[in-house]
Amino acid sequence: MISHEEIQAALSSRIDGEPTGLDDAIVDAHVSGCDECRAFLDRSLALDRQLHAGSPAQLAPPVDLSAAILAGVDDEWRRFSRRRELGLAVGRIALVTMAAVWVVWAVRLIVSGGEEPVIASTASVRFGVALALGFTAWRPQQIPGVLLIVGTMFTFTLGFAVRDAVLGMGQFELAGVLVPLLSLAALVWTWVADRGGAWRRAWRMLDANPS
Ligand SMILES: [Zn+2]
Repeated sequence: MISHEEIQAALSSRIDGEPTGLDDAIVDAHVSGCDECRAFLDRSLALDRQLHAGSPAQLAPPVDLSAAILAGVDDEWRRFSRRRELGLAVGRIALVTMAAVWVVWAVRLIVSGGEEPVIASTASVRFGVALALGFTAWRPQQIPGVLLIVGTMFTFTLGFAVRDAVLGMGQFELAGVLVPLLSLAALVWTWVADRGGAWRRAWRMLDANPS
């Protein structure tokens, strides 16, 4: 049995554009049959509208917003949530694809590289990155930590590539720069899709702050 608190927490998350952890259909079914949670949704939406409008003076009289939303008349926030889900789905596909690329990249190194310890450790780092990317596809909240690692790897490989190019030494491997760069792009994309709503809301709150 789902409690009112869980439903209301899910409603707050949904308005913030964050993952609710509950199925939308379950939340909607509960809200349509529960006066308490409907009143909560009305209050939350009114507050959100107020922040959106940027001025407390524009706070509308309490109207039954949830009724309008449940009737599908004004589903702006629902559209927003769908857009977010689409962005997140694209990001997850990109992350899984990049995880597969890192695995292939590691296997190719092992197949071509022989037994040197440096080969084994480089290959295991690549497997590790693949695992981390796969994990963030599943749990986008964990992106910042992985972003730091992949970002550092990219910065270093780019630095070495530039040094090698300038000094004319070593052979330049395009994959060495490209794979971390594309992984970085997939991570940033998914992170923004996942957290964009919360940032916008925080920004609006700052914006609405009377000084
Ligand atoms: Zn309830």
